[in-house]
Amino acid sequence: MGLQDAVQRVFDEGGALAQTVEKFKPRSGQTKMALEVAHTIEHGGVLVAEAGTGVGKTFAYLVPALLSGERVLLSTATKALQDQLFGRDIPQLMAVLGVPVRVALLKGRGSYLCLQRLAYARLDAHPMDPGTMRQLARVEEWSVSTRAGDMAELTGLDDGSFLIPLVTSTRENCLGARCPKVQSCHVNLARRDAMSADVVVVNHHLFFADLNVRESGVAELLPSVTAVVFDEAHQLNEIGVQFLGQQLTTGQLTGFCRDLALQGARWARGLANWHLMVMDIERAIAALRRVCGDADRTDRRRWNASGPQGISSSAWIAVMEGLRTAVQAAEVALLTVAEMAPDMQALQVRSVHFLEKINNFSQPLPPGLVRWLESGKQIRLVESPLDIADAMRGRVMGGGAEQAGRRSWIFTSATLGSDADMGWFVESCGLAGAQLLQVESPFDYSVQASLYIPAQMPKPSDPSHSSSVAMLVAEAAEILGGRTLLLTTTLRAMRSIGDALAQYFSQTSGINVLVQGQSPKRELLERFSQSSENGSAGCILVASASFWEGVDIPGDALQMVVIDKLPFSPPSDPLVEAKVRQLESIGKNAFKHLHLPQAAIALKQGAGRLIRRETDRGVLVVCDVRLTQMGYGRKLLAALPAMPVIGSPDHFRDALYALTKPSTTDPDFF
Ligand code: SF4
Repeated sequence: MGLQDAVQRVFDEGGALAQTVEKFKPRSGQTKMALEVAHTIEHGGVLVAEAGTGVGKTFAYLVPALLSGERVLLSTATKALQDQLFGRDIPQLMAVLGVPVRVALLKGRGSYLCLQRLAYARLDAHPMDPGTMRQLARVEEWSVSTRAGDMAELTGLDDGSFLIPLVTSTRENCLGARCPKVQSCHVNLARRDAMSADVVVVNHHLFFADLNVRESGVAELLPSVTAVVFDEAHQLNEIGVQFLGQQLTTGQLTGFCRDLALQGARWARGLANWHLMVMDIERAIAALRRVCGDADRTDRRRWNASGPQGISSSAWIAVMEGLRTAVQAAEVALLTVAEMAPDMQALQVRSVHFLEKINNFSQPLPPGLVRWLESGKQIRLVESPLDIADAMRGRVMGGGAEQAGRRSWIFTSATLGSDADMGWFVESCGLAGAQLLQVESPFDYSVQASLYIPAQMPKPSDPSHSSSVAMLVAEAAEILGGRTLLLTTTLRAMRSIGDALAQYFSQTSGINVLVQGQSPKRELLERFSQSSENGSAGCILVASASFWEGVDIPGDALQMVVIDKLPFSPPSDPLVEAKVRQLESIGKNAFKHLHLPQAAIALKQGAGRLIRRETDRGVLVVCDVRLTQMGYGRKLLAALPAMPVIGSPDHFRDALYALTKPSTTDPDFF
């Protein structure tokens, strides 16, 4: 029996899924996608599959991948989704299908405990606050029992914790074969597991990082896999460009200083003035921070011919020269003692890499690349290609591997474009000629949802826009008892609307206003989901950025999604600007070929938070009159699922009251 027949049987009425999984219902769209994936795996080639919310795309690619008997690499956008595939979806399907597949999870080395650095953290002379000391004690206790050494096992340790870089490794500070802990090293064990597995689950960050430096195992794996699946593929380009270029950050330099102080005193005390060298580099980092200014600013700053925008050419040259001199002094000293210990040799190699990057960011920008500077908690200098198309065509899919001809590539997401040819995605990923498939969501939006575009809302550029959005949300959420997710396009609007809502509800009903940043994302979503249970007052969650996607709150806990403005990319973003120039240089209209498709994808993602199951009901509110008043608004509207449009504030209130009447919430299975 061929793979497609086997896949068809699994999804059939009375098939393995229907027999073993409670509430599984065959869906024509899911089966169609699964068969296309099976065909691609059997015959090789490239499939781009957009599968609307609720199609069940995860099973549609996992079933053929697991049944194929081929070596498969699965890549998804985040570590949380990786854990979900590895810990939940794949084991469940393996039980259903009865296939003995060896599966491995592979993350970047920064996700694994480094036993050698844990030992160093205990010796670190830098003072730690009591909270960090307690966290270190927890890591030590856990390090004795963990098998995988995956830091995700340690709940409650914030991703941004100061401790994580102290107990995990980087390519630069890893001692490799000369490490005394190499036999029990978690990074090496994870790679060994991956090399011997049939199915390996990675993430896009690791995939592209490894493509660049070829050290985490993915590049080694790639020649031996015959099928590669990218889920959440709409994020590939944005993630890929960051890793295909170069980055120099103050975090990297500060970590170097910390290790230099520790290892210099340990292995070569008295042979050089390590303390003075560290102070010189720290002074150079401080000068870099001063010249960049504005610690709150997190946007990308353009890079002109003379350096980052807003920084004079002379100041930039001086600050880079200061950094170069300080790192060079350390490099010269390290060279004389490098043979004394692997730690000193690793530090010397790191100092050489820093000097190369400092030189690079002091030189004019080579053609075809874009540079920018980000200042915030860290200063980041970034250089990247404009898109991943060349890398995909050459290094990834051209590959030179023997099997490249029959290898299959599957790219999937709920949103890959606003048009039938998914042009923006296909072009930016270099996938011209790919087989295209679009599978509509099985949800009946004409019954389950409605769309409201308040005509009285001020224009998005009006200073009163955010306060008007807050007022509309306050009144609507009062009727619903919370149950509202408000997605903003900027952090400034998020804070302003969040403050206005918190003030409004501080006097009245018990509705809680949650704002992104108050707690980790997972915690906020748990509080939101649980808030409306047992008849208690619900929540309004005000969020931006990462909450536009990956939020899955089925049932009545979420009944209204509000989008403050159409999510166009900021035109001043250096990467967007460079892309616009590139498109215009070949005679293409940047609005049509870049801004509009990107906005359509983001809008679809945001709107997709509303209806998550066939029994869900809700209202989508877009507080941007451009959607009805501008010509391009119609194109963006067409990108959304077709649903009834609410015409007046009175009808909007009626729709909200209708949602407060009980409905059957019986989450079905995908
Ligand atoms: S080999 Fe590298 S990652 Fe592994 S324990 Fe040693 S230093 Fe850490």
